[in-house]
Amino acid sequence: MYSKFDFHLHTQWSYDALSKVEDYFKLAKERGVKYIAITEHHHMDSYPEVKEVAARYPEVKHIPAAEMTVWCPLGTYDLVCLGMPEVPTPELQAVFDEYHQWQRDAGDGFCKAVQMAGFPYTREVRMELLKSYRPQHIIDVQGCTHVRACVQREYLVDKMHYFKDAQEMSAAISKAKTVPHYPEAAKVIPVFKKAGALVLIAHPRSYFREKDVERMDALREMLQLDGAECNQTDMTPELTAFYREYCVKYGMLSSSGCDAHTCGPECKLGTIIGDDVWLEEILDRLPQYR
Ligand SMILES: [Zn+2]
Repeated sequence: MYSKFDFHLHTQWSYDALSKVEDYFKLAKERGVKYIAITEHHHMDSYPEVKEVAARYPEVKHIPAAEMTVWCPLGTYDLVCLGMPEVPTPELQAVFDEYHQWQRDAGDGFCKAVQMAGFPYTREVRMELLKSYRPQHIIDVQGCTHVRACVQREYLVDKMHYFKDAQEMSAAISKAKTVPHYPEAAKVIPVFKKAGALVLIAHPRSYFREKDVERMDALREMLQLDGAECNQTDMTPELTAFYREYCVKYGMLSSSGCDAHTCGPECKLGTIIGDDVWLEEILDRLPQYR
């Protein structure tokens, strides 16, 4: 049994994902998943391709979306923004530009940190790592971004032995403080909302410290949440029910998705069950995608 929808999927247009856009439409069709959302990290660069592929899969509807990570005084949080405009508003385009620059600056920040630890991890090396798993036409659009975490770790730890293990590497990187924090929630969230998007907190289990209602209340306000992913790969039925109840109490939407980064027979697309009622509530707010 598959869910009717899956609103959290990454393609190779996300710096850390490998799937093609079409892989998801094909699998959604096979599994009878009626609605999907491609939620790239920090941008909608894949959207023209999504539109083009979607035209060949009329059985599978899609909602324009993105997963935007924001920084606020309480921490760093991933937000699934559903119902992004197909053509970004000028303000939203400026925010996407800022995130593109952030991705390159973050990449440089990782290099700088490793250099401060005494090792020659240059931008050129980083580009070679990106080329090992990303298509050139995407690198042409996004530039020398940060690298998928496992690829970077394999290079720095397993291949070059700059660090004895992942912990030592992470400690050196956080000590250097050279990786900039994400764009600020207070500045960018109003832009998403003004552009018509619904802002839902992604995989909230750790963000909410499981059932810390005080924390949930604080994040609901600080991140101006329209909803939460009540089912995710790391959820229990009990937590799903708890988050759903919280959403109902505050008139918030509930969503679910598998956060896939690769697509194949093992892909979890559609296996993270979201109630049909959740979908109806979301579509009531985004009737143009019914
Ligand atoms: Zn994600």
